[in-house]
Amino acid sequence: MAKIELKNVTMDYGKGIKGLDNVDLTINDHEFLVLLGPSGCGKSTMLRVIAGLLHQTDGQVLFDDQDVTGLDARERNVSMVFQNYALYPHLNVFKNIAFPLGNIKKITKEEITARVEEVAKVLDIEDILNRRPRELSGGQRQRVALGRAMVRNPVVFLFDEPLSNLDTAMRQELREVIADLHRRLNTTFVYVTHDQAEAMQLGDRVAVMDEGKIIQLGNPQEVYNEPNCVYSAGFVGSPKMNFFASRFIKKEANWAVKIMGNEFGIPTGRIPFPGDDPAVSDGGRVISGIRPEDLRLEPVEGAADVSFAANVVKTVPMGAGLHAELETNGTHFMAVFQNHTDVAAGSEVTLHVDPATIHLFDPETEKTLIRYQH
Ligand code: ADP
Ligand code: MG
Repeated sequence: MAKIELKNVTMDYGKGIKGLDNVDLTINDHEFLVLLGPSGCGKSTMLRVIAGLLHQTDGQVLFDDQDVTGLDARERNVSMVFQNYALYPHLNVFKNIAFPLGNIKKITKEEITARVEEVAKVLDIEDILNRRPRELSGGQRQRVALGRAMVRNPVVFLFDEPLSNLDTAMRQELREVIADLHRRLNTTFVYVTHDQAEAMQLGDRVAVMDEGKIIQLGNPQEVYNEPNCVYSAGFVGSPKMNFFASRFIKKEANWAVKIMGNEFGIPTGRIPFPGDDPAVSDGGRVISGIRPEDLRLEPVEGAADVSFAANVVKTVPMGAGLHAELETNGTHFMAVFQNHTDVAAGSEVTLHVDPATIHLFDPETEKTLIRYQH
C-alpha cells in the first residue's frame, strides 16, 4: 500500500527533450490511476521515475510521505509489467514466477511454493506451471508476467502498455484480470496506455498527458463529460469529438452559437450574461465541440432540441450501431447512431442535438470556455 506523490518533477533528457515537465501528481493509496496519451508524451518516463529505474533531474518523488528520490528500484518495493513479457526463456513458469523471491533472505522452499501456487490460482495458470515461455500463448505469457509481479507483494504495481501485443479478445480478457487483481489486492496501480477505451474501462482516475505534462486529471466520466481543453476532448471518445469553427450570437436574454449555418441556443446559465468573459462576445469566434454520439436521428427527449439537415456521405456498420460521415453546408463530421443500421450513403437525414451537450472552447487557448453542466 502506498500513496505516491510527484512534486515539480522534471525529467530532462538533454538537448531540450523533457520527458516530464514540472509534474505535480498525487496518486492515492489503492487507487487505479491510468496515464493516457499518445506515443512520446512521457508516460513511460513517469512510470520509470516512480519505479526508481530513472532518476528525475528535478523535483521529488514521495511514497507515503517519505522522500524516495535517493532510493533505487529494488529499495522501493515496486513491481513493473511491460509490453514485452520479459520472461526467462530457460525457466519454466513456476521458476519465472518464483524468481523475484530468490532475493528474499530466510524464505523457505515451502513458502515459495505456497506463494507461487497462490498467485497461479488467482491468475488461473495452475496447470501450466511446468511449461517454458515458448510453449505459451501471448495471453498466458502476460499472466505469468503478472504473476511474477504479484509474488513479492509490492506496494505499487506499474504497468507499461502491458496488453499492446495481444489480440483484441485476449486484451479484453486480461483487462478484466487486471481490474479483478486491483479489487483483490490492496495495492496502488499505475497503468500506462495510449488506448482511451482501456483507460476509461480501468481507471479510477485518468491523467491525460501531452509533452511531458498532465493536461487533465479526473475520473473517466469527468474526462469524457467535462474535457478541460480541445486536446483532452479529442483524445477521449471514439470516434473523436467533432470540432467546428463557429461564432457566438447574442440573443435577447441568452447566447447562441452558429455552427455550420445553424443556430444553437445555449441553455441559460452556461454563459455569464451579459458576457463579462472577454472571450465571449457577439460575433466572436469559438470552437464548438459535438460528440458523434450526441447527434441523434430522433428528437432528444426533455431537451431544448435543435434540428438541422445533413447529407450522409459514408456509413460504417458497427454491429448494433452505425458510424456515419455526414456533411452540412460543406463541413464534414461524424455521428454514431445506435439501433439505426438502415441509414444509407447518399440520403439526407435530420439531426437533433441537445444544445446542452455542445462543448465550447476558446479559439486562442483551446481551453474549455463553459463546462458541461449535468
Ligand atoms: P511514452 O511512453 O509516452 O511514449 P516516453 O516517456 O518514452 O513517452 O518519452 C517521452 C519523451 O522523452 C519522448 O520525446 C522521447 O523521445 C524522450 N525520451 C525517452 N527516453 C529517452 C532517453 N533515454 N533519452 C532521450 N530522450 C528520451
Ligand atoms: Mg512508452
